[in-house]
Parts: sequence; C-alpha cells; structure tokens
Amino acid sequence: MGWTITIGRVAGTEIKVHLTFFILVAFWGVAGYQQGGPAGALAACIMLFALFACVLLHEFGHILMAGRFGVRTPDVILLPIGGVARLERIPDEPRQELLIALAGPAVTLAIVVALYAVLALGGVAPRMGELDPDGPFLETLMRVNLYLLVFNLFPAFPMDGGRVLRALLSSRMGLVAGTRIAARFGQASAVVAGLYGLTAGEPLLALVALFVYLGAGAEAAAVETRVAGEGLKVDQMMVTQFRAIPVHATLADAVGLLLSSEQREFPVVDNLGRVEGVLTRDNLIKGISQRGTDSTVGEAMTTQVKAVSPRLGFQEALEQLRSSGLPALPVVDDTGRLVGMLTLDNITDLLLVRRARA
Ligand SMILES: [Zn+2]
Repeated sequence: MGWTITIGRVAGTEIKVHLTFFILVAFWGVAGYQQGGPAGALAACIMLFALFACVLLHEFGHILMAGRFGVRTPDVILLPIGGVARLERIPDEPRQELLIALAGPAVTLAIVVALYAVLALGGVAPRMGELDPDGPFLETLMRVNLYLLVFNLFPAFPMDGGRVLRALLSSRMGLVAGTRIAARFGQASAVVAGLYGLTAGEPLLALVALFVYLGAGAEAAAVETRVAGEGLKVDQMMVTQFRAIPVHATLADAVGLLLSSEQREFPVVDNLGRVEGVLTRDNLIKGISQRGTDSTVGEAMTTQVKAVSPRLGFQEALEQLRSSGLPALPVVDDTGRLVGMLTLDNITDLLLVRRARA
C-alpha cells in the first residue's frame, strides 16, 4: 500500500487516499467538462467530493462499531471503488463481524433517508430511478448513495456483503473455511462481472471486477497466514543458526560468507557484539560494484534497522518485517544480545509445516 497519501486523522484512524483515486477525479472532471464546460467540470468535482464525504461517513460506521468491540482501525484508505477501513484484526465472534460489516451500509442508508427527507420537505418529489447527471445536486447525491448501498451489500470481498457472508459462514464452519468459501464466491462473481464488462463495453465494470478479484484473494491469503501463525512468538520462528559479520570486515570477507552457506542476509555487529545494521545480498552486490571488494561492510550495509524482540507476537513481527522492506531483521533480546534472525523464507517454511501438521 505504498501508493497512498495521508490527508488527516480522526479518532485514532489515519485517513489515506490511494493515488488512483485522483484518476477518478480527473475522469469525472473531464466528463463534466465535456457536458458543461468549466462549470460542468466544477459541478462534477463537487459532486465527487460530496460522495467522498459520504463514503468516509460509511467507513466511520464500521470503525466506530469495531471500536465498541475493542478492535482498533489504524487506517482507512479511499480507493476509486470506495473506502476500505483496515481493522487491526477480525473480531473474535462472527456476530461482532456481522455487526461491524452492517454498520457502514446502515450509515449509507441513513444518508439516503436523510437526503430523501430534505428533498421531500423542500417540495421536491425525489425520483429513485435512472441516474440523471443534470438532476438537482441533492437528488443525484441521494441516488448515488443508494447505488453505493446496493453495490456494497453484494456478497463478495472486499465489499461489506462479502464480510456479512463470511461472518454467516464462519459461525458454522470456522474463520478459515468461511473466508475461503466467501473469497471463492467473490472471485467467481468477479470473473463473471469482468467478462460481462469486457464484452458489453463497460470498462469501468471490468475494472471494479478486477479490484474485487484481487481483494478477495488478498483477504483469503491474509486470513490463512494469520490463523496459521496464531500464538507464535518470534523466538519460535527465528533462525538461530546464522553467521554475523563484523562492521569492519571487507566485502571480500562477506562474499566468502555468502558463497559458503545458504545465508543471504547478515547481521552486522561491532566489537561488543551490538547490532549496527544488516548486510543484504543486494547491499553486498551494490557495494562491490560501487566501491570494490576492499571497502568495508559498514559502508555497504543497511543502517537504522529496527531489531525485533524475541517475545513479539506473530502478526506484529510479520508487519514489522514487511514494513522494513528488508528480507530479514535481527532479533535482539532485552540485554541487547543478538539471538536470531527473522526471515520471510523461514516464516514461510514454518507456516507450511504448521499447516501440514494441522
Ligand atoms: Zn463498508
């Protein structure tokens, strides 16, 4: 999720916008310009931002309900197909997930009802039918929200309907199986919708279907990984047989280590055994091509590496490793001693073994 910018923070949740969202702004702006010149472009963009506000309210429906069950939401991302509130975990009980999934559509429904009431009180008879881009602002906003509501309840990830389906399935068959079936159903629906979109000349539908397909796969994979690693601590998942390299060693020494074993990343230590950084294979190759084999490990290594505690839990450790952008992190205990290496390869192997035994 590198393609995002943070625009604000509400109730402990960062509000981020995915850069592809601006493609949608441009798309709407151009469409509005073609219909009504600069005023049309402005009107289209105002409509889009009003809609964007409605989507945020919808997401905060999920976020506030999740908070009631003690589940925090570190961030919410706005994508062209809508918002995604990234809950830190799936609530323990399927009933709680059901309520969280329904809270967003409930907010959207409330917006539709409120806009309908405002229009009716103003003497306008709101029409619920075809979308009319020239229609009055509030009426159009109400109808777009109505479409959003129906779309969101479609039973496929990453839409809310997918979570409702998963919650209903997992209450009977458990989280992993429930997610797997909900994800397969979502992907199958996305393939059908995508093919229809391509053959019927609806490229936007095909694009949405692609997002749904990818979202469903990612959700299923994330849940399987999370469940497979449940209860694990870093000291159970780290590599304990490894070689460290002194910060003053030359890159020629490092090449010797690299070629003599399977190890690809080396913790770099000073004279007292304290971790100074990590030398990855990429660091080594780049260091040799830029400064030659006589230069030191200290010049080529990645510095400011955040070491992991051996008592850290599985999910937090995995997130720390992923966010570091490195293939491995040193594991350092409370006394500052280097006790292991946390590597993605090793975690993958461990999860494969755990799954095979389960
Ligand atoms: Zn939602």
